[in-house]
Amino acid sequence: MADGDAGASGKSVAVIGAGIIGASCALSLQRAGFKVTMIDKGDPGGGCTLGNSGSLGIASVVPLATPGIVKDIPKMLFDPLQPLSIRWAYLPWTLSWLIHYIRNSTAERVEKIADARNALLKGLFEAYEPLIETADAQDLVKHTGLMAVYEHDDGLAHAQYGINLRRSRGIRVEELSGDEAREREPALGPTVKHGVLFPDVAFTVNPQRLAASFAERAVQDGGILKRAKVTGFEMGSEGPRKVLTDDGAIEADLIVLAAGAWSKPLATELGATVPLQAMRGYHSMMPNPGMTLNSIVTASERRVALTPMEGGLRASGTAEFAGVDAAPNYARADVLTNHAAGILPGLNTEGAKHWMGSRPAMVDSRPVIGRSPRYANVLFAFGHDQIGIALGGVTGKLITELATGQPPSVDLTPYRPDRF
Ligand SMILES: Cc1cc2nc3c(=O)[nH]c(=O)nc-3n(C[C@H](O)[C@H](O)[C@H](O)COP(=O)(O)OP(=O)(O)OC[C@H]3O[C@@H](n4cnc5c(N)ncnc54)[C@H](O)[C@@H]3O)c2cc1C
Repeated sequence: MADGDAGASGKSVAVIGAGIIGASCALSLQRAGFKVTMIDKGDPGGGCTLGNSGSLGIASVVPLATPGIVKDIPKMLFDPLQPLSIRWAYLPWTLSWLIHYIRNSTAERVEKIADARNALLKGLFEAYEPLIETADAQDLVKHTGLMAVYEHDDGLAHAQYGINLRRSRGIRVEELSGDEAREREPALGPTVKHGVLFPDVAFTVNPQRLAASFAERAVQDGGILKRAKVTGFEMGSEGPRKVLTDDGAIEADLIVLAAGAWSKPLATELGATVPLQAMRGYHSMMPNPGMTLNSIVTASERRVALTPMEGGLRASGTAEFAGVDAAPNYARADVLTNHAAGILPGLNTEGAKHWMGSRPAMVDSRPVIGRSPRYANVLFAFGHDQIGIALGGVTGKLITELATGQPPSVDLTPYRPDRF
């Protein structure tokens, strides 16, 4: 949409959260003529957006919970270093969510989830383009494809379920031998037996900077970035009129809630009880790797993504249920370092830096994008679990369509806040 186009007429909007989702919504709304205030308790892109694998994963239609996840539960409970783990102390808080999450792992439900994710993901590059251009952030995105590699025949056999799900939705997939995989990525070691290439996947070399560039551009063009923690809302007769923070109140015609894994209590106040959990992930960043990759590679059996980022080689992954505010267990990041070294024999792991962040995970692996069931002036944009970096542009576009009263370009029924 062109600057100052229909529907906005200078209305004010407060966007809570300036991660990739909030920053994308803010810039998109600003381009549509809204007066935007972003509110974040930290730096733009400093939450989960900072440390992820950076994949603009047009092929990421398959959720983490697929048929067979049930057999991983004993390991999840008894080994804190497994790729999927639950802290015992947190189990009572997450049990009901986990039961529903596992119920969504049947083949029939996964088909529906894949359709819902695909409907959003297939528009990702088109939706990002105007934001990336406006923010002059083209250098942050590389269109190289993504290669998943396997060290065992049964690893590839196990992956066929997801490969078929993708192919049936028109996603391009090419199967490669171990040698063909090494031709693409000479740094891969001899243990790699198979590769699966997704040629249309892109990645960002710095997801934090991508979000920050959107936020900065919004500010350069007249928006406001308020660094404060949102504590609640002042209600008027028709809905919330002010966002309350630990540093004063902000008046707004429209409120967009994009606070990632922290959204749940604020969503409750704004009219929707949502089954949102923090699915925590880790990374290990090797600042002087001594080798490089040409594209993002996932060592699928090890459940680690390897990304050639601006600041070094990043090994990321794992899913831990422990609550959004619990202390990190950086031994999980050490496991990622060891996996990276296992598959990239020339990797220098010296000086590896660790990070933990919380994916905003919904029980049905679909984001919440839509209007509050109670307040017409509140829009929700959170719960993007493993695909938030991919879906910033799409979410910004859909939220802007809702805010300006246009028919949404994707049917929003599967993402409604009141679907549970
Ligand atoms: C290891 C790992 C790998 C991943 N890999 C990928 C990938 O390859 N591709 C992909 O698409 N996705 C990936 N993800 C997921 C992706 O990182 C998230 O989906 C995405 O960052 C979510 O963005 P967000 O803006 O919703 O949340 P966040 O980035 O967490 O932003 C939320 C913001 O809200 C602010 N906030 C929260 N509460 C308040 C409050 N009360 N007041 C003010 N501000 C508040 C926070 O400070 C934060 O800045 C990965 C995640 C992890 C952990």
